[in-house]
Amino acid sequence: MRLCRFDDDKVGLIRGDQVFDATAALVHLPALNWPVPLGDHLIANLDAMRPALETAADESRPVSIESVALMSPVANPGKIIGAPVNYHKHHEEAVADSEINLGREIKTIDTYGLFMKANSSLVGPSEGVALRFTDRRNDHEVELAMVIGQGGSDISRADAMDHVAAYAIGLDMTVRGTEDRSLRKGVDSYSVLGPWLVTADEIANPDNLDLEILVNEETRQKSNTRNMIFDCARLIEYASAFMTLYPGDIIMTGTPEGVGPVVPGDTMHAWVEGVGRMSVPVRAHKS
Ligand code: MN
Repeated sequence: MRLCRFDDDKVGLIRGDQVFDATAALVHLPALNWPVPLGDHLIANLDAMRPALETAADESRPVSIESVALMSPVANPGKIIGAPVNYHKHHEEAVADSEINLGREIKTIDTYGLFMKANSSLVGPSEGVALRFTDRRNDHEVELAMVIGQGGSDISRADAMDHVAAYAIGLDMTVRGTEDRSLRKGVDSYSVLGPWLVTADEIANPDNLDLEILVNEETRQKSNTRNMIFDCARLIEYASAFMTLYPGDIIMTGTPEGVGPVVPGDTMHAWVEGVGRMSVPVRAHKS
């Protein structure tokens, strides 16, 4: 199943190149009272909701994907986890590029572990990226994003992939500088998730997916998730050794080599095999 959030918080199913409105199914979500549980309410109930979503979609009149505004398909993630330097060739370029390392020693995920991106940084492709600090370098990072379904703590490697509800494309936008990663990657709109969720049953092996990003017409990054240092299961095992994962938590799995700057007016075109492609405009936060 391919699930999107579009226009004014409608939920849709993607079939072919069309969007089928499944918003009517949301009446079947259990009622919530304060304090609401951590995580995303729709993702937490996704398995139970699937028949109602499919039925609602069947009864709707489809529209073309191009005619809707795609928002982040996860509305309320419990957290957004990032994977720093999780590709060896990205490590090599970061070591070689003084505009990335700013004189610091660069290690890999084995040393750094993981980092957090602010939930408030999350947008969908139609919202675009609003660059701040345009006097500095702002870089794209295309990544495979995992969305947690069943939560858990101390998840074993063997069980890890059973905890993934879906996959999407993640853009882990970054302003270069000396501040901590969580701040430089936590800017409003610096986490793009889209174009929709592809449920885990449709992705046979997330550790063997081609991914790429173009800026305007120029290919910048082109790799395969098999080149990750921590694979998908290891990322879940590792993260859950530190913190409980909740339904709707997003894990951005790290970026391959080829990171580079974007400026206002650019358009990023990202693609992940088996997931889809999305175009994301770049503008200035202040002009
Ligand atoms: Mn990243």
